[in-house]
Amino acid sequence: MVSLHDKAEKFPSYGALSKNNDMGVQTIERLEELKLQLNPIHYSIMYEYLINIDPAFSKRIEELLKTHIYNDETAETLYTELISQFINLKIPTTEVGQLLSNLLLELKTWNESAQNKQDVITQEVGFIVKQDLPDNVLKRIEAVVMPTLQDFFTDADKLQKCVLESADEIKQLKEELQQANNLAKTDELTGIPNRRGFNSFIEHASKEAIEGESSFALIIFDLDFFKTINDTYGHLIGDSTLRYVAKLLASETKGRDYIARIGGEEFAVVLPNTDYSAALKVADNIRHEISVKKLAVKNHNQPLRISVSGGVAMYQINEALEPFVHRADSALYHAKNHGRNRITGEDVL
Ligand code: GH3
Ligand code: MG
Ligand code: MG
Repeated sequence: MVSLHDKAEKFPSYGALSKNNDMGVQTIERLEELKLQLNPIHYSIMYEYLINIDPAFSKRIEELLKTHIYNDETAETLYTELISQFINLKIPTTEVGQLLSNLLLELKTWNESAQNKQDVITQEVGFIVKQDLPDNVLKRIEAVVMPTLQDFFTDADKLQKCVLESADEIKQLKEELQQANNLAKTDELTGIPNRRGFNSFIEHASKEAIEGESSFALIIFDLDFFKTINDTYGHLIGDSTLRYVAKLLASETKGRDYIARIGGEEFAVVLPNTDYSAALKVADNIRHEISVKKLAVKNHNQPLRISVSGGVAMYQINEALEPFVHRADSALYHAKNHGRNRITGEDVL
């Protein structure tokens, strides 16, 4: 798995690319070959594809190119994903969120304390002037102390208002930051988490598993012969099929289960507190539900039937995430090689 930090380091700024830059030239040449418009979207994606820093991302681009589904629309989706990765890298959202929370708390405390002090002073001055004071003291209180205090209170009120407004803005900023963070982890097509969401979820799940000495299951599904579905029905129906599968996964899972679209036509289901045999059952139920469903397609007499293959693996305490995901992947490819429309568990590997 490529860390985003590695990626950011290896990634030159687009602005720095010039005609002298080999990869820049190759990118432009490739765009010309494919008769694609030379705009920042196609340029960035083609560049990303050619430098192949994130092989999974490059593979998706390659698949779309090979199957002639790469167009302005699909490119825009990929571009959003690419850019959101960098936005996420550049803004340490968690840290900024924490800073804003602290600031908000400080402002709230200051505001309350200022209000309290103002009340105490008002009360005390009221008490003092009622005392039997010498005339010259009383005069000075009336002529200097009272108006100065009044001025001070007016200034403090203004500042308080300002602080409250800033607090509102900070709150809003925090929410927007959270939204941007969520968006970066969401797949645009299906609305479920994407690969990045999945990565951070399993990272969190593995920590919980280590702390609680428990385990969790991972199922990776891949649609069978999806290229043929695109070729036969067109990629818009292909897209609808992906949305249908995402919905079905959502309805077939519950509670703390987690689903994500981790590749073009690849989905992951994470099942916390689930043992291996139960996970195999869940996977097979989903596979069965998908295989029996007939999807009606406009202008086609025959309903569309799809199937998925799946691989299941259990997280082993303290293991790295890469070999764990790899086991589920290998099991999936075993299922593909043994006829598809089937689930394979890691025990066969
Ligand atoms: P297999 O059973 O071996 O998995 O065969 P396959 O045809 O499903 O696999 P292959 O990897 O050859 O093709 C995957 C296809 O998925 C090709 C690619 O165009 C398509 N695809 C990837 N992302 C999208 C997408 O966002 N929308 C649509 N419609 N198709 C996509
Ligand atoms: Mg497939
Ligand atoms: Mg695939």
